[in-house]
Amino acid sequence: NRQFVLAKRPTGVPDRDTFELVETDVPEPGPGEVVVETRYLSVDPYMRDRMNAGESYAEAWDVGDPLQGGVVGDVAAENGTGFEEGDVVVGNLEWADYTVANASALTQVDPDLGPVSTALGVLGMPGRTAYFGTREVANVKPGDTFVVTGAAGAVGSVAGQIAKEAGARVVGFAGSDEKVAFLEDDLGFDAAINYKETDDYRAALDDAAPGGVDAYFDNVGGPITDAVFQRLNVDARVAVCGQISLYNATEIPTGPRKLPALIESRAQVEGFLVNDFQARFEQATRQLAEWVGDGTIQYRETVTEGLENAPDAFLGLFEGDNIGKQLVAVDE
Ligand code: NDP
Repeated sequence: NRQFVLAKRPTGVPDRDTFELVETDVPEPGPGEVVVETRYLSVDPYMRDRMNAGESYAEAWDVGDPLQGGVVGDVAAENGTGFEEGDVVVGNLEWADYTVANASALTQVDPDLGPVSTALGVLGMPGRTAYFGTREVANVKPGDTFVVTGAAGAVGSVAGQIAKEAGARVVGFAGSDEKVAFLEDDLGFDAAINYKETDDYRAALDDAAPGGVDAYFDNVGGPITDAVFQRLNVDARVAVCGQISLYNATEIPTGPRKLPALIESRAQVEGFLVNDFQARFEQATRQLAEWVGDGTIQYRETVTEGLENAPDAFLGLFEGDNIGKQLVAVDE
């Protein structure tokens, strides 16, 4: 059984030496436990934060700790749990071929809803983040201009389509021409901006959203967010979902940010965690599945093959290697 552990705490951008693949025994299930054979594991930007020492909303890993994340897999063995061998389950498990977990930490995946990998993407945590962030936090309304950053990623691509479904004009920021084409041609965004092709985000935004911004879903932070803040309309809503442009920063930049713009716009800026909405996860998943089923939401996955390549998949998130949800397909 192969398993990744945190080999050292990274400073700045992590590299392969941050990760170590070790051999362990295949675990046995104790009473109330399930052994899961991994099919897919999810790499997510927030994991960068768990590699730092100190307080954060996600508990820090210690050096030597197994890395963990969303896993979809098959029940390989169980001990008095009600699960059956072969059931497909999802949970927050180790980056490993096999993991043992308490049954209460696992949720059964309904294979009729879609390919089981979607339980880590559009029908999983990222999809639900997009759902609640767009509808409840950014509170998108018909006729709004809705802007999303990280727009071609797991959360952003779904957020933009949910805003479109709600009747908004949707503009996305993403890091390549291929992503811009994906957003405009495949997902029906009204406009998309390749932020790597320009330094003048404000001018690009003025072209794409001449009427200003009513709702902003921020996955990225930094200078793009500075520009969007200057184009917020009166009573705009900002959902602060992520700040990936700062996750590897060793010092958070403290130059003059564009906060005075919030005075004029009286915008409401609200951070949120998807887990705040836990009581309504089932409802959100059902709605997302319906939208995927009727074509309202299209989704893309970028799949890296092999557990041993999980670190590259994770590091690729910070390079923009992925379109849609980044997954790792695990085989022995
Ligand atoms: P993505 O699939 O969007 O992958 C990350 C993307 O971020 C990359 O593809 C890249 O695309 C973009 N990116 C990387 N570095 C930068 C940078 N310096 N500036 C601008 N863009 C950058 O990841 P997720 O959809 O899983 O997550 C999106 C955000 O949502 C993250 O910030 C994450 O932490 C946050 N999140 C928050 C949750 C919550 O509960 N609040 C829950 C889940 C996610 P590109 O090519 O466009 O640069």
